[in-house]
Amino acid sequence: MVNDLRPYLVGRRITKAIVLLPKMVQGSSKRFIAAVKSKNILGLSRRAKILLFRLSRGWTLVMHLKMTGQLVLQFPDGSLRSGGHMIPGGTEKLPNRFSHIIFHFDNGSVLYFNDLRQFGYVRLIPDQEMAEFILKKKIGPEPSDAAFSPDSFFSSLKRRSRSSIKSILLDQSVVAGLGNIYVDEVLFCAKVKPTRLAGGLTQKEKLLIFQSIPKVIQQAIAARGTTRRYDDSGASVSGGMNKHLKVYGRENQPCRRCGTVIRRVKQGGRSSHFCPVCQR
Ligand SMILES: [Zn+2]
Repeated sequence: MVNDLRPYLVGRRITKAIVLLPKMVQGSSKRFIAAVKSKNILGLSRRAKILLFRLSRGWTLVMHLKMTGQLVLQFPDGSLRSGGHMIPGGTEKLPNRFSHIIFHFDNGSVLYFNDLRQFGYVRLIPDQEMAEFILKKKIGPEPSDAAFSPDSFFSSLKRRSRSSIKSILLDQSVVAGLGNIYVDEVLFCAKVKPTRLAGGLTQKEKLLIFQSIPKVIQQAIAARGTTRRYDDSGASVSGGMNKHLKVYGRENQPCRRCGTVIRRVKQGGRSSHFCPVCQR
């Protein structure tokens, strides 16, 4: 999503911000509106699931879409680019009832932060406080980071030997950026059932899980994720990663590897999908 939106947002100047739902701004929305006005977007990046808009004059706008947020960029000709979660009706008649924070840009384009359940947030942070902000969020290393090493991963597993491997991989302090979909895919790739306890995993299984994490994430980023979005041609398209999913969302469908029916179980309020034959 960051890769998709970056070319259209970097270099733009924010001419106006509108906050329709003040609780989504962490801090005073009045101050937020005044502070982002006339700032340029110098860069757009990501840390874990947090979007980082680097602004001029030493500020970073952080944004989290949480479970149901989406960004919709509308060009002056009315065409759209979007990313994040799918909201039924979210891209119709903008702004709509899901549009809570709106940014206007110098070229006439408008960015809508839409959110169904309103758990998402934006926040303006001085650059010198960014390191502390990330530290406080207890975000672990990115899957492609050198800091994410077999040793660090194995000691995380050891510390939580009585937890399921699924819940450990969802824990953002262990490794950043894995959600429900990609944890299920990683565990299929590593041939391990999501309900297994960390303490019962063999050394070989732990290593396979470790190796599967960057593999699945890199494939997902290259395929531009799983959510529906408006693409470069302005058409609504399904995320390219959907056709690569082996287990997630495939309950009762045959396993792509062995043909056995994929099963779904409830685990800590989330659904886990797995092949009962390929995964032990
Ligand atoms: Zn199978």
